Amino acid sequence: MTDVDVIIVGAGPTGLMLAAELRLAGARPLVLERRPEQGKTPKAHGLSGQILDLLHYRGLLDGVRGLVTDPVPPHRFPFGGVHVDLTRFEEPPLKALSVRQQSLERLLEEHATGLGTEVRRGHEVVGVRQDEESVTAEVRGPDGTYEVTAPYLVGCDGGRSPVRAMAGIGFPGTTYPEVNRIGQVKIPEGLTVHDDGDIETPELGRIKAGFTRTGTGVFALGSLTPGILFIQTTEDDPGEVDDDVPMTLAELGDSIRRVLGGDVPLGEPVRLSRYQFSARQAERYREGRILLAGDAAHLLPSTGTAINVGMSDSVNLAWKLAAEIQGRAPEGLLDTYHAERHAAGARALLQSQAQVALRRGHDEAAEALRSVFQELLDDEQAARRLSAHVAGTDLRYPMPGSGHALAGTFVPDLALETDQGATSVAELLRPARPVLLDLAGRPELSELAEAAGVDVHAAKAEDRPADVLLIRPDGYVAWAGDADTEGLREALAAWFS
Ligand SMILES: Cc1cc2nc3c(=O)[nH]c(=O)nc-3n(C[C@H](O)[C@H](O)[C@H](O)COP(=O)(O)OP(=O)(O)OC[C@H]3O[C@@H](n4cnc5c(N)ncnc54)[C@H](O)[C@@H]3O)c2cc1C
Repeated sequence: MTDVDVIIVGAGPTGLMLAAELRLAGARPLVLERRPEQGKTPKAHGLSGQILDLLHYRGLLDGVRGLVTDPVPPHRFPFGGVHVDLTRFEEPPLKALSVRQQSLERLLEEHATGLGTEVRRGHEVVGVRQDEESVTAEVRGPDGTYEVTAPYLVGCDGGRSPVRAMAGIGFPGTTYPEVNRIGQVKIPEGLTVHDDGDIETPELGRIKAGFTRTGTGVFALGSLTPGILFIQTTEDDPGEVDDDVPMTLAELGDSIRRVLGGDVPLGEPVRLSRYQFSARQAERYREGRILLAGDAAHLLPSTGTAINVGMSDSVNLAWKLAAEIQGRAPEGLLDTYHAERHAAGARALLQSQAQVALRRGHDEAAEALRSVFQELLDDEQAARRLSAHVAGTDLRYPMPGSGHALAGTFVPDLALETDQGATSVAELLRPARPVLLDLAGRPELSELAEAAGVDVHAAKAEDRPADVLLIRPDGYVAWAGDADTEGLREALAAWFS
């Protein structure tokens, strides 16, 4: 006997997104979160990459846009101490929004609970055991300890993941000694800001906008919001950072003094945070009935992309897990979660570790490397390619039955004309169902798809990329082609039958 379909451990962005996607797929998740209320320490302030398109496809992007804090669109992003300038692109190849993690989590929780998810806060998972039929979590709640049983349990419980440890899954990699401290502070008296963004301080004189490297670390200076300075220090620190201990203005001031050798006056803080980088990936994302997603599965040593990778894990996993629980999954479907998302995590690690190498060197050779890299990024094609790598938009999953260029890629948001009027790929994917999009009147293919439980939509598109597209609930094209019924049959059997 099981109590729910899926136990989700952790109510961060990964766990909440997974819960909502499972509900859309008709499964019953239960979210268990050890904190009685949302953590107060500021974490992410940026949401970027492919997940923004996916949120658009689920009808959530307008809500996320409503949370944006900094009015200046982030058309530049740092890549290991080098600036990637995207202002020359009409449509930036890496989309990003300044959104506070706490606000994002509140929006996702509302979405998940609105779809019928139960989120239990103050309930810590302290033990996990599994057998061939089910997995049981031992939970310490406000009224004592109890057990919950489900066919599957997913550890979305962050970088230190107790679930990962209890499942015996290794987490090899490196924790780097550098600690980053960030302060967004009001401009105080006694400090002049020049038109080019440089600042003038009484003790240290003029400090340039951008990166100042010294023998003890890096001082970064910028501004995203008028009247607010963005300051970051990076120093090697042998101790381990505890995310639950709040950063203070004094701690930032001390760090600046160690890096620059003097004081920078700091105004009232708007946001203070600190983080340390690790490059780690779980050896496997599945151990029997226990799965991992988000930071529990991977830690990336760069800013701005971790939530993208974590929430994308959830979207990839949910429909497969629901199909498995509902007894309609083809053989091996759930194992494609590890195959696809472990490879995606490894690719995200590749670019973020390259950033570590670019960022960490302080000698002339390292400066030369950064200069050459910066020069290469003046080339539009190079900037586009790097942006796509960081965004995760260059992922291509292997797809049986189709050699079409679109197969395995994220489906573009085509404008569509149907008998019922104008629509778009984004609208068709809102319910998170598999879709066969017939753009050329191919009833023989539509019938095959209908028989496999796929929603069929006949439509016209101005620039038709293929006659027919078979789209998975996570937005990836499972098959594209014309009259090849055998290819479509193979794809349907692999993903949906
Ligand atoms: C200062 C800072 C700045 C950052 N900036 C960015 C950024 O700009 N962009 C970006 O994309 N990422 C950023 N990150 C990374 C981002 O915060 C993480 O990638 C993200 O929180 C991971 O989400 P998650 O849901 O996988 O895990 P988490 O957010 O860590 O959530 C895990 C949850 O599991 C709970 N939990 C743990 N153990 C148990 C248990 N035994 N039982 C029940 N619940 C449990 C925890 O309390 C927690 O709520 C930043 C991180 C920090 C620290």
